[in-house]
Amino acid sequence: MIAERPEVEAAACADDRPSQTIVVIGTGQAGGWAAQTLRSEGFTGRLVLVGEEAHPPHERPPLSKAVLSGAALPETTRLMKPEAFDALGAQWRPNVQVLRIDRAAKLVMLFNGEALPYDKLILCTGGRARRLALPGSDQVQLNTLRTIEDAQALAPALTSGRSVVVVGGGWIGLEVAATARQQGADVVVVETQSRLCERTVPAEISEYLLELHRAQGTRVMLGAGVQGFSRAADGRSEVLLADGSALSCDTIVLGIGLVPNDELAREAGLACEGGVLVDAQCRTSDPDILAAGDVAVTPNPWAGRRLRLESWQNAQEQGIAAARSALGHAVDYQPLPWFWSDQYGMNLQIYGVPTPAHRVVQRGDKASGSFVLFYLAGDVVQAAIGPNAARDLRFARRLIEQRKPVDAERLADLGTPMSKL
Ligand code: ADP
Repeated sequence: MIAERPEVEAAACADDRPSQTIVVIGTGQAGGWAAQTLRSEGFTGRLVLVGEEAHPPHERPPLSKAVLSGAALPETTRLMKPEAFDALGAQWRPNVQVLRIDRAAKLVMLFNGEALPYDKLILCTGGRARRLALPGSDQVQLNTLRTIEDAQALAPALTSGRSVVVVGGGWIGLEVAATARQQGADVVVVETQSRLCERTVPAEISEYLLELHRAQGTRVMLGAGVQGFSRAADGRSEVLLADGSALSCDTIVLGIGLVPNDELAREAGLACEGGVLVDAQCRTSDPDILAAGDVAVTPNPWAGRRLRLESWQNAQEQGIAAARSALGHAVDYQPLPWFWSDQYGMNLQIYGVPTPAHRVVQRGDKASGSFVLFYLAGDVVQAAIGPNAARDLRFARRLIEQRKPVDAERLADLGTPMSKL
């Protein structure tokens, strides 16, 4: 359970108390937005940013696309121009890991021996790429894609004439596969489930993604278990599958999901359940510690349950919300989940949380490459997904948020503009 905090405590770190210290752990997108927001909301106290990354706050979506293909430099992912970052007046501690949080003394202990006192602490520790400990894991190089360094290390391997096996047919796996194909590499995707992105999209979208990748020449193996790895006599890597076969390749990429970095919180005794539990004010079970972004598990009214949202939208908006909450502002963070992925120039967007119980209404022709699937409970749209349909989906978002009943026939009719619905 998340402890309730009396209102009087919510205002305890008001922005008119310059002697206050707020420490933000994690300098990804959530941490960066939290830091910017603290200052833009008038916090004049001591602001400390601790990140194990060497880089100032940055966002990750381009890392599996433009940065991986070499079309964009890593610096382009920065949230703030250097002058804006400097203007925050934050004490930035890059390349440093936090050892532990001493809640009783309100100290963040760093591996380098430093102890940082805090009045409020914001955890934006994100997650790390899940790894596989299987026989032969130590014989081959198992690449992952999460950090700038990961993208830089992988990029040279994705070229024409090289072969890549991507283990995992989720978002990261598919985006890496698409980038690799576009760079001319031969690509095989090995997915253990019977369909792609099974965790996050309904079967009809999995089917669409499968067709998209196969049409681009990517080989997709579904229901395929990886049993291990080996190094072949010719020096190439081998991915050993459960059916006894082996895939020989130059490069292996694991895209098998994210592990939330919640160890610090757990060791500090904060309530965690597959991430750090927070309430709609982004407060953990300790009222002076907040959490935001990939690591935070938040009650979500659109899903009717707690969610840990791994999305660009959540990293930004919850980072902002946590900062505002830390300053004692009224915050009620209940976002309609929004997610997108870019693959081979196709932009897929998802609003809301579709479930198998929803009625599906299709607008547009799948063959045209642009369509929207609406997910309805009764006559109310609960979720919408579609490729290359950003405009229609913006209207869909409004329909979902307004919870207004709609006529399914008109929804499906391309002759009825979405704006009229
Ligand atoms: P991400 O967004 O990090 O890509 P997802 O959860 O969307 O994470 O995707 C991870 C995918 O990896 C899932 O489709 C999951 O079924 C798949 N997967 C997990 N473990 C394995 C494995 N050992 N072999 C193949 N696929 C795996």
